[in-house]
Amino acid sequence: MRKQRETQYIHGRGSTQAFYRSLSMPIFQTSTFSFATGEEGARRFAGEEQGYIYSRLSNPTVQALEDKAAEAEGGEKGLAFASGMSAASAVLTSLTKAGDHILCSNGIYGCTYGLLRLLQEKYNITHDFSDMRSIEEIAENIKPNTTCLFIETPINPTMRVIDLEMAAALAHQHNITVVVDNTFSSPYLQQPLSFGCDIVIHSATKYLNGHGDVIGGIAVGRQDYINELAATVRKDMGGTMAPFDAWLLLRGLKTLHVRMDRHCYNAEQLVKQLKQHPHVEEVFYPTDSSHPDHTIAAKQMKKGGGVITFKIKGHKEDAMTMMNHLNLVKIAVSLGDAETLIQHPATMTHSTIPQIERERMGVDDGMVRLSVGLEAWEDIWNDLEQSMDRL
Ligand code: PLP
Repeated sequence: MRKQRETQYIHGRGSTQAFYRSLSMPIFQTSTFSFATGEEGARRFAGEEQGYIYSRLSNPTVQALEDKAAEAEGGEKGLAFASGMSAASAVLTSLTKAGDHILCSNGIYGCTYGLLRLLQEKYNITHDFSDMRSIEEIAENIKPNTTCLFIETPINPTMRVIDLEMAAALAHQHNITVVVDNTFSSPYLQQPLSFGCDIVIHSATKYLNGHGDVIGGIAVGRQDYINELAATVRKDMGGTMAPFDAWLLLRGLKTLHVRMDRHCYNAEQLVKQLKQHPHVEEVFYPTDSSHPDHTIAAKQMKKGGGVITFKIKGHKEDAMTMMNHLNLVKIAVSLGDAETLIQHPATMTHSTIPQIERERMGVDDGMVRLSVGLEAWEDIWNDLEQSMDRL
């Protein structure tokens, strides 16, 4: 019988029985693997025999994580990378060639924007942004050379939500591959493959790990695609995850459901408080009734997630003043950690996006993005409240 997702995170595919029945997956901290004979090495290189060769290609600890991540996303196979950006760049370069076009959600992480610019400038792989609010809106932005739809949902930091089922159905009519950056939701809250999307990527640095001590990335998709990605872009461009980081991630994943439930509960309580505060102009949280996309969010997400964006009344300086008076909440980029973190997208995570583009994406100078941690929500609120009292 298929195990429930909470049980999968703890037990998962595979077994450590061969390793002295070790409960935790051992860390294979080795760069290479020796062959019993020259012929064995030759067979492995020729792909005629399974087995490890060299840790940039594959490693047992990293592979255990890849299996677990694939299972969590409901996908056939996973591949681990040194960072979320390494996963994004590997997937996008694998799906495009010079002259192709990528259609992207109107709002993406700043470095993904940088990657798209780089692909355009160096390889003439162009891109456009679309709100993707309807089939018509996506259809009118699809070009004959569009090979990939790249979607972030909820979008960082506006928290707009895109209907994945709708986007995937339309893309497939045009033979377009749909890639979803599922970092903000984690597979516990949203499984894009179950809505027909083709590839999921993660900054595993965030909720998958959950403890703020690893930089990592994951891609999950069909076995044939992931095998090809492993044998080409990841092998030849590098960007493989280190065994110790994979081990930390295996440990983090065991508690994904417990952490996510608490992140979401804390966020829901804070949204209620923020909405009533006189210094807060607007609160953006996907499943809140005030959110324009809350019905889509309710359809495809189990809960609203641990990130809240809110707009401070006033200007950039007021947002900065508020952040500068926080004590418990730390000013830091990243999200999904036990500690509550706050950042100012316009001058931090999205600062590399030109202002005119940022405004089109809805990133306002008064916005701050709060990654709600696992503390008692009342303590987080007390800190936010006292800092807003300074305004
Ligand atoms: N995707 C999203 C939505 C992110 O927020 C980030 C990082 O903040 C990334 C991708 C990049 O991940 P990494 O920092 O692990 O390279």
